[in-house]
Amino acid sequence: MSEKKMVFFFGGGVAEGDVKMKDLLGGKGANLAEMTRIGVPVPAGFTICTEVCTDYFANERRFPANLDWRVKAALGQVESAMDRRFGDPDNPLLVSVRSGARVSMPGMMDTVLNLGLNDQTVQGLILQSGKPRFAYDCYRRFVQMFGNVVMGVEHHNFEHLIEKAKERLGKVNDVDLSAEDWMGLVAEFKGRIRQKTGRDFPEDPWEQLWAAVAAVFNSWYKPSAVTYRRLHDIPEHWGTAVNVQAMVFGNMGEDCATGVAFTRDPSTGENGLFGEYLINAQGEDVVAGIRTPCQITLSGRQKNQSDQPSMEETMPRLYRELVGMGQRLEQHYREMQDLEFTIQNGKLWLLQTRTGKRSAQAALSIAVAMVNEGLISRDEALLRVEPQTLDQLLHPTLDPEDRVKSQVIATGLPASPGAASGQIAFSADEAEQLAGSGVAVILFREETSPEDIHGMHAAKGIVTVRGGMTSHAAVVARGMGRPCVSGCGSIKPHIEEGRFTVESAGRGLVEVKRGDWLTIDGSRGEVLLGRVKTRQAEMTGDFATFMSWADETRRMRVRTNADTPADAKAARLFGAEGIGLCRTEHMFFDAERIVAVREMILARDEAGRRKALAKLLPMQRFDFEGIFREMKNLPVTIRLLDPPLHEFIPHDHKGQAEVAAALEISEEDVRRRVDELEEANPMLGHRGCRLAITYPEIYEMQVRAIMEAACRLVKQDGFTIVPEIMIPLVGFRSELAIIKKRCVAVCEEVMTETGVRIDYLLGTMIELPRAALRAEQIAQEADFFSFGTNDLTQTTLGLSRDDAGSFLGAYVEQNVLQQDPFVSLDQTGVGQLVEWAVKRGRDVKPKLKLGICGEHGGDPASIGFFERVGLDYVSCSPFRVPIARLAAAQAVLRGAMEKARKKAKLDKNKKRKCKGD
Ligand code: ADP
Ligand code: MG
Ligand code: MG
Repeated sequence: MSEKKMVFFFGGGVAEGDVKMKDLLGGKGANLAEMTRIGVPVPAGFTICTEVCTDYFANERRFPANLDWRVKAALGQVESAMDRRFGDPDNPLLVSVRSGARVSMPGMMDTVLNLGLNDQTVQGLILQSGKPRFAYDCYRRFVQMFGNVVMGVEHHNFEHLIEKAKERLGKVNDVDLSAEDWMGLVAEFKGRIRQKTGRDFPEDPWEQLWAAVAAVFNSWYKPSAVTYRRLHDIPEHWGTAVNVQAMVFGNMGEDCATGVAFTRDPSTGENGLFGEYLINAQGEDVVAGIRTPCQITLSGRQKNQSDQPSMEETMPRLYRELVGMGQRLEQHYREMQDLEFTIQNGKLWLLQTRTGKRSAQAALSIAVAMVNEGLISRDEALLRVEPQTLDQLLHPTLDPEDRVKSQVIATGLPASPGAASGQIAFSADEAEQLAGSGVAVILFREETSPEDIHGMHAAKGIVTVRGGMTSHAAVVARGMGRPCVSGCGSIKPHIEEGRFTVESAGRGLVEVKRGDWLTIDGSRGEVLLGRVKTRQAEMTGDFATFMSWADETRRMRVRTNADTPADAKAARLFGAEGIGLCRTEHMFFDAERIVAVREMILARDEAGRRKALAKLLPMQRFDFEGIFREMKNLPVTIRLLDPPLHEFIPHDHKGQAEVAAALEISEEDVRRRVDELEEANPMLGHRGCRLAITYPEIYEMQVRAIMEAACRLVKQDGFTIVPEIMIPLVGFRSELAIIKKRCVAVCEEVMTETGVRIDYLLGTMIELPRAALRAEQIAQEADFFSFGTNDLTQTTLGLSRDDAGSFLGAYVEQNVLQQDPFVSLDQTGVGQLVEWAVKRGRDVKPKLKLGICGEHGGDPASIGFFERVGLDYVSCSPFRVPIARLAAAQAVLRGAMEKARKKAKLDKNKKRKCKGD
């Protein structure tokens, strides 16, 4: 360690570090060095690097040998640059001590300002400034900050003393206190510190400095910092750097100020300075909320209807200088910047710059604007927007003005984003009826189950009393793109009476009855009374431009998972290029169909089943026609029946009695059949293509419906349709071969009957490890593979998605799993199987079509993986389509970058080798 460089100076136009050294200098330090290099006025200082921090912790919190003289040397350079001396009673140099990790990290130590002051040096500060009150104000701030941040004395101790002093002196505000008053308070502060800690406030500036540096390092393990790191995956070994920097003063008079500014509006992206400042104030006064800060620009002042003058008005010259500085930094960094500045006696200093955080809306607008300004390339623009954030732009939101006027009556979990208003319905049937008559509906349930699907679909939004983020309601609502607030535990439901009550803050007990208007905000998890206006999301303007660039860049196609024409339509508006998964069972739950479905399941023999299936045929044909029509000539993959049959029969007595009555059979018969169908482990039971092995007539009916619909549209309306028929849960080649033979026979039959010949594909889902392992054999029977990564994850990990909730958290916490494998693909496990199957499949059939239709199809990290293994398309729920389009484009760009990096490395090695020869 001792030979390595530990301390990096910056000041007077030269710096030992630069922006590329963020790992070593932390973000703040690297940028201070960079700004210094390019001639931006930055007070001189130095950075103690992150390796010193790591070393410090490796050696029982001791500073490395040789740090001492290096810091002294660097401080000497700062003294020369600023023409002041640390600890000099006549002309003291004061410094700030600032933490700064690789990435900005809330929870770390607060900055200490004015370090170096004591009873002697404060006299020097009076000499320098000619302002005793200012000097003592700095001194008391320092003792306060140091006492709090370094010595751990809580703020309220000091506040209390200030209040007592004001009372005693008959003064109201801090500004009324004189130099002498503050001098008295400094002594009191020190007394309190001694009382609280048993230690004296250190008068020696060097002792102050070392204690502050150690405090910054120690704050790396402050609980708030540890929590933040865990939440944001920041490794513990990174450590933090410490920046020691000469003070400049924004609190020296009326020609002084301090402020923060973005180079563009962080919520809209509009180009132009955006920020706040305060005249005659120091550092964190702007964010601390002690005084209300003023707007920097005149237009900002007007927007805020502020009666305080803007900086543009009070300091026009410095304002222009700041604008110029912002533009210069933007040009240099080619990114929107977030600046901190201080003005001392009419001179502008910059204290920090970094990439500005922004809303999704602003991120898009800025990316597009910067391409148009010639600042960045399209590729760079595409890489700058986090795909997940697009989600915020796709769902309706509450009109902000209308929202303020409305009342939140309950809060729950933000289970599915978006906002919606409607009249409340208390059952799925009621929701469907109401919606059928053209009314907007909010479905309210204690919790939902598969039997509520049609009601959820009919509703604009869903509220539940019980259930978490992965409850049935949450998962289904997200899939359908319906806003949902789940787990509103404060609501007392009276479902049978068609009402609920809730204890609501400010309103007492509120009762909501059937047909009352309710609004939900699924992005925030709020339920509001009445009808609040919403704003529709639109993919126009910058959004549309940006997405067109993504489309030009990506290789993989993006399809959607959609079961109804309405979902298909929504997905097409978001840019879906086909359907990757159309589940046919959702169609079975429809009120009039479920009777026929149950008749089929309860039939005693094949003839009985065929009779019931014949009733379903025209309905399924109608469904498929609707979907084919909606998708025009885009590809549609239809999965044949997948769930176990018992899911379609009620398990309660009342429901079973109803079924018995409807089918004119005895309740006993229904119950017996339910018992027969019961399975210990339905996920691994009689489902998927296993149903077709035992009851071939089910798939025959479905294939007939698909082909009749397709042939009809081709014949009558001139469509070009290539239906993709998908067999679920295949594990054996022969299994698929048996089913395929029957399907092909039906297809031939239909084509002969209709006199139309069309192309169709017959493929399989790969969702069992055996299917992946035997891909080479299975591919010989299949035209395509679609990776069903939900079930493939369950079956590979031996982990049930429905039951993993109770322990998955612990697995992630203890780092067994980095993430929920149902959200982001387990690339090294499940991914291996995918990769293997892709390779074996293509070995046999180079043109084998390959896609993925699990939840992972909408997850950016997983999409990166699917690009690498060379899938043809991903399929995801409609609202994730734009996310997938962008993620697929980024995957291509990252792949190209990776390739270029590898090639450069190779070339370098080659050259070295040549030289060696
Ligand atoms: P944070 O990371 O919390 O923003 P900073 O280290 O940036 O903490 O410091 C907070 C504020 O302190 C800055 O906005 C700046 O106004 C002020 N400050 C820090 N160093 C100095 C300095 N050398 N001179 C004047 N003000 C400073
Ligand atoms: Mg800062
Ligand atoms: Mg499956």
